[in-house]
Amino acid sequence: MLRCVASSDALQVRFWGTRGSTCASGPEFVEFGSHTPCVEVRCGERLFILDAGTGLSALGAELAQNAPDKIDILLSHLHLDHISGLPFFKPALLAKERVIRTYCGHLDGESAMEPLGRLFAPPLFPVRLGQLPARFEHHGFRAGEPITFDDGTRIETHPLNHPGGATGFRLSHRGRSICYISDVEHSDPWPDPDLAAFVRDTDLMIFDGMFFDAEYSYCRGWGHSTWQKGVELAQQSGVKALAIFHLYPGHNDATLKAAEAEMQRIMPTAFMARERQFLSFAPADETVADRAQAAKVPAV
Ligand SMILES: [Zn+2]
Ligand SMILES: [Zn+2]
Repeated sequence: MLRCVASSDALQVRFWGTRGSTCASGPEFVEFGSHTPCVEVRCGERLFILDAGTGLSALGAELAQNAPDKIDILLSHLHLDHISGLPFFKPALLAKERVIRTYCGHLDGESAMEPLGRLFAPPLFPVRLGQLPARFEHHGFRAGEPITFDDGTRIETHPLNHPGGATGFRLSHRGRSICYISDVEHSDPWPDPDLAAFVRDTDLMIFDGMFFDAEYSYCRGWGHSTWQKGVELAQQSGVKALAIFHLYPGHNDATLKAAEAEMQRIMPTAFMARERQFLSFAPADETVADRAQAAKVPAV
């Protein structure tokens, strides 16, 4: 089901940071990585960045000179682990004609400009975002409203249960979709029917499964869920593949691999997200143009 395709019109996902709350580091944290949340999504050639945790610096180094002139960063919310990569995003340093747009949905329609301006300023940080060569634009919306971009692209959003609020995103392209559901704490009863409707039948759900059910009684109210609740939501919503994300920095590779094996006995297409992991979904809505092109290819 998950396969690499050469098509430049695929829906593609790469994880640049999969840890939640803070980084993990050391020889026992190599396989799943160390950076905090950042996910690159390509809808064909179109780039979206989900969250700006420390993984954003690694993505920026990879993009470097090849970054597009307009870059859209969808922020689930503004907790530090989701924004701390912003000043270290190399494309912001390389071109003054570049525009970096942030989208924030949990501040009653206000943008992230004011809170980001408070954080990235002396004495907390030496350089203001406005002093970087690229121009930042900050857009606010209300989680639950769709975001429509100037090229006509539309992304669906959903409010999430998290201290201070957070926003889930659903990105669709050529008959495929992915849902980004971080950070979220499950409700009782579960699955929440509105969230289940939001993620229904998606090809990939990226879900905050920071804790294990056995740990959850110690972490109740912290705003995070468990891989077991992610599987329940996925299986009851027709989700095709599940990436457990926002991994607890105290869970080392051995712990996560053991949990992943246990999870895959229940849902074989579920996995723990790994830093730099890449997934590609071929278009599912073959167009008239595709069929015409295919007709020109001789059978062999
Ligand atoms: Zn977080
Ligand atoms: Zn958070």
